[in-house]
Amino acid sequence: MATDPTAIVIGAGLAGLAAARRLHAHGLHVVVLEAEASVGGRARTDLVQGSQIELGAEFLASFYTRTLALIDELGLRDDLYRIPSSSAILRNGRFYSLWANARIALTPLVGVAQKLSLAYLLVSLLRHGAQLDLHSFQKAYPIDNCSVSDYARAHFSEEVLEYLLQPPLSGIFYWTPERTSRALLLLVLRAGLSQLAGLRLYTLREGIGQLPRRMAEGLDVRLGSRVEAVEYQPEGGYLVRVAGGPALRCEYLICATTASSVPRLFPWIDPAALDFFRGVHYSSTALLATGLHGRLPREFYGLLFPRRESALLASATVQAVKSPFAVPQGYDTLALHMSGPAMAGLHVYDDQTLTRVLLSELRRVAPQYDPSARATFQRLYRCPEALPEFDVGHFRRLHGLAEHPPGPPGLGFAGDYLGGPYVEGAILSGEAAAARVLG
Ligand SMILES: Cc1cc2nc3c(=O)[nH]c(=O)nc-3n(C[C@H](O)[C@H](O)[C@H](O)COP(=O)(O)OP(=O)(O)OC[C@H]3O[C@@H](n4cnc5c(N)ncnc54)[C@H](O)[C@@H]3O)c2cc1C
Repeated sequence: MATDPTAIVIGAGLAGLAAARRLHAHGLHVVVLEAEASVGGRARTDLVQGSQIELGAEFLASFYTRTLALIDELGLRDDLYRIPSSSAILRNGRFYSLWANARIALTPLVGVAQKLSLAYLLVSLLRHGAQLDLHSFQKAYPIDNCSVSDYARAHFSEEVLEYLLQPPLSGIFYWTPERTSRALLLLVLRAGLSQLAGLRLYTLREGIGQLPRRMAEGLDVRLGSRVEAVEYQPEGGYLVRVAGGPALRCEYLICATTASSVPRLFPWIDPAALDFFRGVHYSSTALLATGLHGRLPREFYGLLFPRRESALLASATVQAVKSPFAVPQGYDTLALHMSGPAMAGLHVYDDQTLTRVLLSELRRVAPQYDPSARATFQRLYRCPEALPEFDVGHFRRLHGLAEHPPGPPGLGFAGDYLGGPYVEGAILSGEAAAARVLG
């Protein structure tokens, strides 16, 4: 017992590390158990031949107020680098600029009447403003009653749906508008429009993975420690069984894995709560990173592929445009992401086939970005659980979970599926879980 910690956090992603930092600051002896060989989860940066490859999160946005404050607390402000916010959407072989916000009024992607119809979005945002709280997603449950596609077809047009709404949903989250709640769309739009100076995107000098690495400093993080089972001890506390290691006892426990692991680790929690965790679905994608000599076109950092233009590709980023630290001088990297529905269908193929399929599709729709002729390396990374879907009903279920927290006292859950499908949501969920278990 003498070596047992007071608190255990399962998972050293951003949510788990945020929770652990809070518990540690409260004076508790905290141990973080992480299955993988490094911290960060879906916010890790790989380094190949001096080029940074983001295995998950690519950027931080200016509305991530808690994340940016944390970056200050961690002394990383000087490492924050503003990405040129130049993203574009493909239509008929040409890329049209999307950011900054005001420029949307000039985009030739959709017609004038369709642009005017977008005023309805502002009406929706004003009408539902009180429910659109980025620090508390479940508050949006009253407007979680139709999908983005139904909402767009009712108030805008097929063109707006296919060329303005679907590409960012697919390119950033690997979701479809059919399976995304309009509550999520309004929350994200509200966040973007709240930036009076325009939405800004950031990275860190060593890539996004620098953030979890710095968060883990000073914490007792045990890598390669996969938790296999958790038992509740009615006399008080929890027994945590780690693969190939001794069982650990603790008084406080936070599970910060993806939602899909919860039913296996906690089969004894409230059945209604188990249904909630089983009901969280994740999009999937594959990332093909190709390093090359020389430079790709420098006009845009982010490229979005509408499904009408490509059923296979979701998005790509040009790393030399993103930041001078992302690639060595004279080199570039194209990070190409497969669309969620395509990955769901093609995940059975081997890496070579997926690579071939992705590159030949890129050559078909945007040959100017084909990196193959000058390639110095090529890596394919699979993300079977990329982003939790905030589908119709998820906000209502979140609200239900907040009203009836699952499990006995001292047990908490954290992850982007609770706080919002991005870095900020993961961090907020971790800090909220720590506050809850401490009572
Ligand atoms: C391809 C992609 C692109 C993205 N782009 C962006 C972006 O540009 N901007 C943005 O803000 N967000 C982005 N995101 C989302 C962001 O990365 C996630 O929301 C966030 O990192 C999730 O953090 P988390 O802590 O909730 O979960 P995770 O990072 O998944 O952490 C869970 C941790 O638990 C560990 N674990 C699981 N089971 C066990 C077990 N049994 N025992 C021990 N450990 C276990 C895992 O190994 C993992 O480290 C992207 C995600 C992906 C996949």
